[in-house]
Amino acid sequence: MTTINSVLGPLDTSRMGTTLIHEHILSSSTGIPQNYPEVLDRGYMSIIVRKLKEAKAGGIDTIVDATTLDLGRDVNVLTEASRRSGVNIICCTGWWTEKPRFLSGVSIDKLAKGFIREIREGIAGTNIKAGILKAASDKAGVLPEEEKVLRAVARAHHETGIPIMIHSYSPGQVGRRQIAILKEEGVPLNRVKMDHSNDTTDIEYLFWMLEQGCYLGMDRYPGEGVSPLARTKTLKALIDAGYKDRLGTSHDWSLARYVASDSIIGSTEKRKKTNLYDYLYIKKVVFPMLREMGVSEKVIGSILVDAPRKFFEGA
Ligand SMILES: [Zn+2]
Repeated sequence: MTTINSVLGPLDTSRMGTTLIHEHILSSSTGIPQNYPEVLDRGYMSIIVRKLKEAKAGGIDTIVDATTLDLGRDVNVLTEASRRSGVNIICCTGWWTEKPRFLSGVSIDKLAKGFIREIREGIAGTNIKAGILKAASDKAGVLPEEEKVLRAVARAHHETGIPIMIHSYSPGQVGRRQIAILKEEGVPLNRVKMDHSNDTTDIEYLFWMLEQGCYLGMDRYPGEGVSPLARTKTLKALIDAGYKDRLGTSHDWSLARYVASDSIIGSTEKRKKTNLYDYLYIKKVVFPMLREMGVSEKVIGSILVDAPRKFFEGA
């Protein structure tokens, strides 16, 4: 049992329940909700609350919101959404892949200081504290600014003990370099989750990351490029290999698809084609596939419960 930061204050891990470990409740770009709310559709708060109430009614208790500052994080929106929907929300600190010019000039330790303050004191003048750290690299590999963020995240972990989620590009095995940097920084890899790991079906690479001690984010559903069925076959293979409790299964689903009609993230039309169920897609589509493949009810019932809790507890 561990106490973690949720947007409404301390949350005991025994109360996390069914948890989606990588989602986006409202994502856009840095400062958009606070400065240019016009570009988001009017009434987005009520859409968010309705969607989260649907998730809660469908059995989702906790959502980890992976929206960093550069993805348009707004902790006041998250707090109101949590209060009105009854879903626990854990927000993050760190950085995604947008690189402001100042980042090349700032030191690793100074950057880490900012992340530590967001975990210990609060974000943007509030007392809303981050519960998870995030760093990111994509197709181009670990770029210099991203390495700086990654090392700052590692140092903030050493100070605060909170876990780390890593946005990675699994088809290019970018995790190999990210894990090497985390090792150099002395981060215990059982506190690290390598995200978007179900964007590949290269099981050998996934086993390698698990053998390093990491958790894997099997967190894109329905996702693109790899079919939901292929993703679920990979999930099944990892469960069969005994890694059930180290797989953070989630959607990486952004409700911004509803609140910015001309969003760069994707239109409502596209959404209708891919995901009719929002945060309940895994329960409604993936679990039946696993059942069909012969996974037991006991295991299915634990998938969204045990791994997230253990990840936050550092088990
Ligand atoms: Zn994401």
